Amino acid sequence: VKESGRNNISFYDPQMQIEILQRKQMENDLERAVVNDEFILFYQPQVSYNNGVVGAEALLRWFPLEQGIIYPNEFIPQLEETGLIILVGEKVLYDGCKKLQQWANTPEFSQLTLSVNVSSAQLLHEGFSSYVTQLINQFKIKPGKLKLEITESTFIENIDATVAVMNELANVGVQFSLDDFGTGFSSLSYLKSLPLTELKIDKSFIKDLLEDKSDMAISKTIVSLANSLGLDVIAEGVECIEQLQLLHQLGCNNYQGYYYNRASDADEFETFTRNYNKQ
Ligand code: C2E
Ligand code: CA
Ligand code: CA
Ligand code: CA
Repeated sequence: VKESGRNNISFYDPQMQIEILQRKQMENDLERAVVNDEFILFYQPQVSYNNGVVGAEALLRWFPLEQGIIYPNEFIPQLEETGLIILVGEKVLYDGCKKLQQWANTPEFSQLTLSVNVSSAQLLHEGFSSYVTQLINQFKIKPGKLKLEITESTFIENIDATVAVMNELANVGVQFSLDDFGTGFSSLSYLKSLPLTELKIDKSFIKDLLEDKSDMAISKTIVSLANSLGLDVIAEGVECIEQLQLLHQLGCNNYQGYYYNRASDADEFETFTRNYNKQ
């Protein structure tokens, strides 16, 4: 009923109806995608200054039937809203751990680590740490090979529960990287309570690193913070050799970005790694 009278309240808003339908359609598509297993892990190399490719970040891609590729910014939020992130997140961890086992059994890849992104709903979902522990045992993964990437949003809501889950996993050797570091709003005090092993400098600080004095200062500060806390540090979004050289001067020795390679399917990642590490 349209009621745009005195109060200008409209109960029938065509635009809103369209958005509701589109959202419903997207939900149906995502449910089908889970059932049909249309999600695939891509891998982006993580390169150390002295040791070549030392690991990869697993980045999810959606291949709906005959429709090309869809990137995570377009479906991760919906997976989180619908709760489907739990199922998809389990698949990501399963496929990632399986890949780690394959690498462990291939001499040229046996040292590689794998970083997997974990949503807060996933980490706080009951049974998360036992699921990960079970995969580690099932695929006989060496401690330290699996890194979970979390963001501030993960612990900001429920720090106690988050710390508890992280500690359970840290005790079996799982590493934790703090992704998008410096972009959130929480205080630095949480760095004391979380069992982190790595800080990841967000790509927003790398983008204009060469021209922007503030970005340089922030990156430098993150590196020295990591050093003083005994944490590894890696920069994401490295696109050119100048950024790489500057980061090296700032003391950051691990890099990820298009300068090396985009995220690609496992075959391409492995070919890239084989060639890169041969040089
Ligand atoms: P993120 O974890 O911050 O991942 C880094 C993003 O930067 C990736 O985008 C990657 O492809 C992109 N990137 C890498 N190198 C460069 C570069 O040199 N320049 C620029 N401009 N971008 C670069 P992608 O793959 O589209 O993923 C977007 C976000 O989706 C991720 O951001 C992460 O938050 C989320 N995501 C991806 N896979 C998963 C997953 O399996 N689970 C969950 N929960 N989230 C995921
Ligand atoms: Ca990440
Ligand atoms: Ca990031
Ligand atoms: Ca991000």
